[in-house]
Amino acid sequence: MRFVSTRGGVEPAPLDVALAAGLAPDGGLYVPESVPRADVDRAGATLAQTARAVLAPYFLQSDLREALPALCDAAFACPAPLRALASSDNDHVLELFHGPTAAFKDYAARFLAESLARLRDPTAPPTTILVATSGDTGAAVGAAFHRRAGFNVVILYPDGRVAPRQAHGLECFGDNVRTFRVAGNFDDCQRLAKQALSDESLRKRLPLSSANSISLGRLLPQMAYYAHAALAFRAGRGVPLNFIVPTGNLGNALACWLARCMGLPIGDIVLASNANDALPRYFAGGDYAPRASIATLANAMDVGAPSNFERLRFWHRDDVELRAAMRAFSVDDDAIRDTIREAPQRHGVVPCPHTAVGLCVLERLREAADTRPWAVVATAHPAKFDSIVEPLVGHAVELPPALAAWLARSAQGCPMAADYDALRAELLG
Ligand SMILES: *Cc1c(COP(=O)(O)O)cnc(C)c1O
Repeated sequence: MRFVSTRGGVEPAPLDVALAAGLAPDGGLYVPESVPRADVDRAGATLAQTARAVLAPYFLQSDLREALPALCDAAFACPAPLRALASSDNDHVLELFHGPTAAFKDYAARFLAESLARLRDPTAPPTTILVATSGDTGAAVGAAFHRRAGFNVVILYPDGRVAPRQAHGLECFGDNVRTFRVAGNFDDCQRLAKQALSDESLRKRLPLSSANSISLGRLLPQMAYYAHAALAFRAGRGVPLNFIVPTGNLGNALACWLARCMGLPIGDIVLASNANDALPRYFAGGDYAPRASIATLANAMDVGAPSNFERLRFWHRDDVELRAAMRAFSVDDDAIRDTIREAPQRHGVVPCPHTAVGLCVLERLREAADTRPWAVVATAHPAKFDSIVEPLVGHAVELPPALAAWLARSAQGCPMAADYDALRAELLG
């Protein structure tokens, strides 16, 4: 199995090269040359075993082939339970918030960290992982690389634009992880990171890599929990499970789509966007028009130009074929608030603002007389967004132990101007 760039400007690369590179050298995104069929006869297996089966065809020629079981055991040690909601036995949530930083990004960040650690030349100087984050990626990557020999992490996040507990989580690592709160928005953080990654003279002095959601090492492992839930559901109920995926950069939903292409029993896929509605507009028949992001309650989804759209486009012949692959809906902040407020009564759960976007879309499908089984992907734990969620539901949300351990640590971030020279000086300093 080799991997090609969505822009077609590089020779097909083996997995290990694509994993280490992040972005393809022509600026495109790596995608598998062809989509293999999964060995789907694995219902009843654990999440980690399902991950192995789904990922195995991509690793056949990789130096990591032998290590794949260990990679999967490490990345998928936390469960990803599919829970029925109180509203109907066809309404479910797929809970992906049981990892160390209480968001779905923990699984794939851990997988990527384990992969890069094994691919590393132990005699080389340490690699600096530079990550721009709108809130959850930085924490997941920080946790995955914390105290890992051979790696340093630099996190850039937009000052004042993440929830207080998210900010604490980003700043609480220390050791080999440094965190900067940038005087700017997420786009500024991303611009600074991209500038550093393309600064040849800097890279000669400092081995740099990224860990953002366009990395193959994050995209591929995300298939595992969809496969696991869908196989278990079909084993019990005999039909495919349909998914509603709260979407920002389109990485998580794309993994769901890829798992379906591999033959897993996944039915319809619906993207749930917040007020950043480039995808809903496109799927409703408009042009694809990326725009500047706007701030919403579901801040990890505040993406105006979803990077992974380039992969989706690459895999489809034209707009007609692509629009047939999935649907997308937009949910504004008022609807997010209403959904959170009513969710305990209606569904028997307290959702985070991102999960609420998905639940709101489920409610709209039910109003439109869709009676099929759906799973809303619960992308983060509500306690991470207590400042939004608690006033709406009127009571405190219990902290999961991992998050409580995080909050007990001291925070030690540094301010930084949204200025490349400032970042460069810190990286070299
Ligand atoms: C990152 C994130 C999303 C969006 O996921 P994408 O893969 O970027 O579409 C949704 N919810 C939460 C909580 C997130 O952290």
